[in-house]
Amino acid sequence: MSDSPENHPAVVLPKKVLGNNAALTNTAPLNSTAQKNPNSKTPTRNAEEQLLDLLYPNQMQHVQVAPMRTNPNLLVKSVGYGAWTQSRKLIYYEYRMPEYLKPFILFHEGMHIKQFMRNPGAQPNSFRQMLGFELQTYKKTDDWIRNESRSKSFYSNNPIAAKYGQMKSESASALAATNKVFLLSAALKIGWVAKRQLNFLLKTLGHPTISTASSQMTFEQIVFQNMENAQMIPALKPGKQVYTAKDLYNQTSDPAFYEKFGY
Ligand SMILES: [Zn+2]
Repeated sequence: MSDSPENHPAVVLPKKVLGNNAALTNTAPLNSTAQKNPNSKTPTRNAEEQLLDLLYPNQMQHVQVAPMRTNPNLLVKSVGYGAWTQSRKLIYYEYRMPEYLKPFILFHEGMHIKQFMRNPGAQPNSFRQMLGFELQTYKKTDDWIRNESRSKSFYSNNPIAAKYGQMKSESASALAATNKVFLLSAALKIGWVAKRQLNFLLKTLGHPTISTASSQMTFEQIVFQNMENAQMIPALKPGKQVYTAKDLYNQTSDPAFYEKFGY
């Protein structure tokens, strides 16, 4: 399988962009705008589902957007994602995210829904595939945001409109960060750069250095380590069992499952 982004789908928004934001103001689910229709046979769609329908006309009717706090997976919850696409029909959304990020986040997660629908196993079955999905998604989301005639209408209501420029720059940063993780992983695997040189480069960029001998690592392991360093996936706990990409999609609430990984 080739490593080009087109061949992979993906998963999450880096914490750098979507977590720890000072503008975390909205703590309540935003489904209050949904209008109840007593004559409707289908359940009313909440505000996030309605926005998803506007972003992807006639493609997301089967998709439910649920609060992040209802995701039982403790590994995923530890990262502080703005959203998490769990399956072909379920997106977990963090309602504490700033309102102006919502079109960006839902466009991004909608891309993952489409990727999952094309992927035989739905969710990515490796970190390598997950990173490929992210690369593709950040690129397409950034293209969409920078095409103002298409995307700006979703930012046209105050106070979101004032944040459009900020959104564009944050999107570009997220794309650059994801590209960097992929390029570092690929360069190391291919042998373009020796580990010593790479660590010097990583330090220069303010990126944590890698610790394992590259020649003994598989590409999957290199990708895992770089994604972990970039806070794109849960931190590996010292002395605990290594988790796989599939573990992030486990919906169990059994504490024993998470204890193996130190969560
Ligand atoms: Zn993603």
